[in-house]
Amino acid sequence: MSKQLAKLIVSRGYSLEGLLKRMDEAASGILLSVDDTGALERTITDGDLRRLLLAGVPLNATDLPLIEKKPVVAYSDTPYSSLRTLMKQEGISHIPIVDSMGVPEKLVSISDLTDQILLSTPHMGKDELGFVNQAFETNWIAPLGPNVDAFEQELAEKVGIGHAAAVSSGTAAIHLSLILLGVSAGDKVFCSSLTFVASANPICYQGAEPVFIDSEPESWNMSPKALEQALEDSRKQNTLPKAVIVVNLYGQSADMDAIIEICDRYSVPVIEDAAESLGSTYKGKSSGTLARIGIYSFNGNKIITTSGGGMLISDDDELVERARFLATQARESASWYQHEVVGYNYRMSNILAGVGRGQLRVLDQRVDQRRSVFEMYENSSLGDYVEWMPEASWGRSNRWLTAGLFKTESGVDPQAVIKRLAEHGIEARRVWKPLHLQPLFKSTSFFSHLSSGSVSEDLFNRGICLPSGSSLSAGQVDRVIGYLSEELKSL
Ligand SMILES: *Cc1c(COP(=O)(O)O)cnc(C)c1O
Repeated sequence: MSKQLAKLIVSRGYSLEGLLKRMDEAASGILLSVDDTGALERTITDGDLRRLLLAGVPLNATDLPLIEKKPVVAYSDTPYSSLRTLMKQEGISHIPIVDSMGVPEKLVSISDLTDQILLSTPHMGKDELGFVNQAFETNWIAPLGPNVDAFEQELAEKVGIGHAAAVSSGTAAIHLSLILLGVSAGDKVFCSSLTFVASANPICYQGAEPVFIDSEPESWNMSPKALEQALEDSRKQNTLPKAVIVVNLYGQSADMDAIIEICDRYSVPVIEDAAESLGSTYKGKSSGTLARIGIYSFNGNKIITTSGGGMLISDDDELVERARFLATQARESASWYQHEVVGYNYRMSNILAGVGRGQLRVLDQRVDQRRSVFEMYENSSLGDYVEWMPEASWGRSNRWLTAGLFKTESGVDPQAVIKRLAEHGIEARRVWKPLHLQPLFKSTSFFSHLSSGSVSEDLFNRGICLPSGSSLSAGQVDRVIGYLSEELKSL
């Protein structure tokens, strides 16, 4: 029995005062009264206790004149859609799920059934507003300021890197990384194919040409084998890339040692797109810190957020200093406005950095929460239909999004499932469509992990991302599992 449920269980013989206290502690508006065998006898609601008080029943009375009513219950195999109908019919807001002996297993509330459940939502801690208020009180309503400096330092310390520059988005951080590595028109840049388009768009900003690299099945991330093939091919044609952008998908690190070892052999620098993997590790090190330059994103859907923002990190202080310079319009040091190169307006605001400082303090919690959401899915019966994204032996994923593949033999179409879940107020998404399949990149080259077809295309065809936010309640995850199981059985 869960702790949450245990809080609701009472037996006969409680005084009115005792029940009121339990009701207050449980804070869910309902108690479950059980007999000697643990079977549910009746539910006691806030309203039941209020009526007793109004009728003048003394607080210490134990033989309570509760109106006899048989509880409305359901069973673990009652479909979620029927639970909702039942609650509407009976005009009740909670329904106990009991086993065959009548012992309560859990309590489903109407809000568990009706609230919109989104894929990944912002989840604030308790310190964010304080830092934002500080910015207001000192009138640091500007890009840059003390929160920005502190956020950079605190993040660098947290992940164990020398230097960090806070910028307006993860995309801006990738763009600056490419400029820092000298990428310009006509150059080639390798990039993971299975990723969000923001990983590759900055390559186009520089007029450079992306070349996409397939995933490996172990981690869904860049295949070292396909990468090596692509580098060897490019060397022969004398078109080695200026940089390789490696993405850590859905919070899981790519096999950075293998990738960096290969790139070192060809003297090509690596940018680690860790937009989704802040808080994860690779062989004990923080994800994002393994390459020459790493980037994080604090967009609203990421594991922690500043509503919009990003960070460029490196152990090379000159690179990071140069990033700050380029991000503030490339203003040279002179007593007038002096400019020698093109600059950008990419710095983070002092207000948003305040949000970031608060969020950084709850990062470890957010990782644990996302991982426990994943575990709920993993421990459910969905495993009959779904293979979960594996966690590679080299690291610990933050499980930013719970992603899985419908087993080939199940023949399930993710699109149909997503549509059905949406009808129940549940947001699910496809796995990223590989960039080499996007019309935007139709004339670019692609190197597969396989001799025919590709791993990333298969992941796209069978993949689904389920609601994974750190603020999801167990009841909400149960509801996703419940509806999804029903739909899968009916398909
Ligand atoms: C979110 C994301 C980005 C872009 O970050 P923004 O802060 O939204 O610009 C880049 N790469 C990946 C893999 C992402 O998931």
